[in-house]
This record gives sequence, structure tokens and C-alpha cells, in this order.
Amino acid sequence: MNIPHEGKTDEEILEKVHSVKELDMDFLSNKIFGSMCTESTHIGKKVHRMFLDANLGNPGLYSGTRKLETEVHEAVSSLIGADMEEVLSLGGATEGNIIGLWRARNLSNKKKVLIPESAHFSFQKACDMLDLEPVYIPLDEKYRVDVSVIEEKIDDDTAAVVGVAGTTELGQVDPIDSIADLCGDTFLHVDAAFGGFVIPFLKGSRYERSSFRFDFDNIDTYVLDPHKMGMSTIPLGLMFCKKESPLSIESPYLTGKDQKTIRGTRCSASIPAFWATINHLGMKGYTEIVERCMENTFYLVERMQELGFHKIIEPVMNIASFHHEDPDTLVTNMSKKGFNISRTVNPLGLRFVVMPHVNKEGIDEMINILGDEV
Ligand code: PLP
Repeated sequence: MNIPHEGKTDEEILEKVHSVKELDMDFLSNKIFGSMCTESTHIGKKVHRMFLDANLGNPGLYSGTRKLETEVHEAVSSLIGADMEEVLSLGGATEGNIIGLWRARNLSNKKKVLIPESAHFSFQKACDMLDLEPVYIPLDEKYRVDVSVIEEKIDDDTAAVVGVAGTTELGQVDPIDSIADLCGDTFLHVDAAFGGFVIPFLKGSRYERSSFRFDFDNIDTYVLDPHKMGMSTIPLGLMFCKKESPLSIESPYLTGKDQKTIRGTRCSASIPAFWATINHLGMKGYTEIVERCMENTFYLVERMQELGFHKIIEPVMNIASFHHEDPDTLVTNMSKKGFNISRTVNPLGLRFVVMPHVNKEGIDEMINILGDEV
């Protein structure tokens, strides 16, 4: 289209926008099994709309938003129990992974980064942008990073080591404590984008499958995504840094003295929205939701096994993946029938993220349709 010469009326605009919005998938349709985002709470969405203009790239203009941001940072710090000097609000874990490696590179003046083969593709972006040299570390039989290979490869040229708490494909957790032991002074960045809001709520539950704790002394940076299992509106990632970073860029024309994020102007509405969400759900609400996601995950595993699928690992969190030699055909065929399911690459398979918007009826309906395809 071209920009119209004369502006249109609200009715004309909304008519078009409504019809186009119908093309978007909706979490509440019970048909989205491949997304790590979910339906936020009613109060989260309401508060988000109130702060659409807030821009913490220029923080002096938004001291109210900034106050809620400080409270969100305190709340999540206390949830994970990690003693960190600095917290940044970001657009998501991609930005956090890039900033983590940016800091590691500048602090060390080195190039090599040891990255688990299971790590998210955002590390590829980070290495490419920062001219770093990724060294991919193979996985053990449970698809966790093989710590013995890290031990072999870590050396004086290593800028950083990456560990993942909740891998994208399988929801697996790397042995972060052993990696931390090996790192010594080498920068350790942990990507807990997905696991960050699952693991703390499964402590002591019958679904606890990982003994991972966030409070290791020698982890330099953590990334957690409220816009995944934190159920925040998008976009919101949080980065926790053991030491306040000297790496910042002065922002002389703005109300803040410097910026440490990649984005400059940034829609910050998801921060008050997340503040509202954590206050609305409380620890009790989150715990119930995460436990329900786990229950549904094991239900989905059972139903997939009835269809003859074999799980790749016993789920550690609410992600269930199954071996299949041609996932693309199934993903495409299911998409034609209105279902979004996902795939794994290592190993090849089908992947389901059992988010809070997924329920047993939705699983049954999806399994019936998938059953016709196999
Ligand atoms: N890290 C992990 C483990 C992820 O699963 C994802 C997204 O799925 C990311 C990083 C990137 O997150 P985002 O797309 O929110 O930047």
C-alpha cells in the first residue's frame, strides 16, 4: 500500500484492522503448542495499555515506571536468590545473550566462546555481531552439555562459557554447578530464559526434576524471560549481573547518563504489566500454574506414547519432544489444520511447549488430528 493522501476515519481503520487481526493465531484457541509465550493475565494487559508511551531509554521522564521496574528487579532477585549487583530490563533473552557475550568479550579481550550444541540460535547472532568465535560443545546422552569437553576446551583464549537452564528444544538443564567449578575466572553466562520462571516454582514439588539453584557465586550473568513462563506481556527479558558493568554508552541528550542495553528508545509497558502480573498471581498462583503445566506435559507424553511416539528425554520442565525422522511434514500438515506445533533439530523430532494456555481438552483435540497424520 501507499500512505493515503488523506487520513481515514477510525471506523475505516478499525474495520480493516479487525479483519486482519482475525488472521493471527490466538493463545486461547487451544491450538498453539509451539510457542514459549502465552496469554498474559487480564490485569497485566490492562496495565500494559496504561504505559504504552513509557520509554525507559529516557528514564528521567518516567520515574513512576522506573519505580515499578525497581520493585520488579527486587522481586525477581529474591525469587532466584542470586546476589547480583545489577539488573537490566531488556527486550528478551536474545538481547541478554548478546549483552552477556559483549561484556565477556570486552572484559577479557578474548574471542573464544564455549557454547552447548543445545543453545538457542541467539548465540549465533551474538557471536556474529561481536566477532566472537563459537566453539560448540556436544551433549551427553541426556542432551546436557558434556562438561568433560568443556574441561578439555577451556583455555587462556576463552572469553566465556555458556550454560543453559531450560533448553529451547527439550527444556533440559545443563550441569551449571560443574561448569561453574571449571570456569574459575572465565566469564560464565547462564541462559535461563525459559527455566527462570519454572525451576523456582517446582522446588519441593512432585514435579521437581532439576536440582539447579541460581545462587552460584561464580556466575557472571543470568538471563530470564518474564515474557515466557513469567506470563508477562511481551517484550520483557531480565538480565542479572554479578558485578555492575563498566560497559555503558553515554547518552548525553537524554535524562539518564548512559545506556547499557542494545535498544535505545524502548517500549517499557511490559515492566508495569509484569509488576501487575506478579502481584496478581503471587507465589501461590505461579506455583499452581507451573504445576498444572507439568501435569499437562506428562498427560501429553502419555497421549503421544499411545500414538507410538518415543520421548527424547523425560520432561524436566513443560516441554515435551519426541523422536521423528520427518518433523517438517507433520508440522506443515498440522499447520494446515490450524495447529501450531514445533520441531527439534538435535535430535530430529516434534516439540510441544505446554504453556499455561494449553489444557487437556486442547491436547486431546490436537492428538486426534495428529493421529490422522501418522
Ligand atoms: N534462550 C532460550 C533458551 C530460548 O528458548 C529463547 C527463545 O525461545 C531465547 C533465548 C531467545 O528469546 P527471545 O526470542 O525472547 O529473545
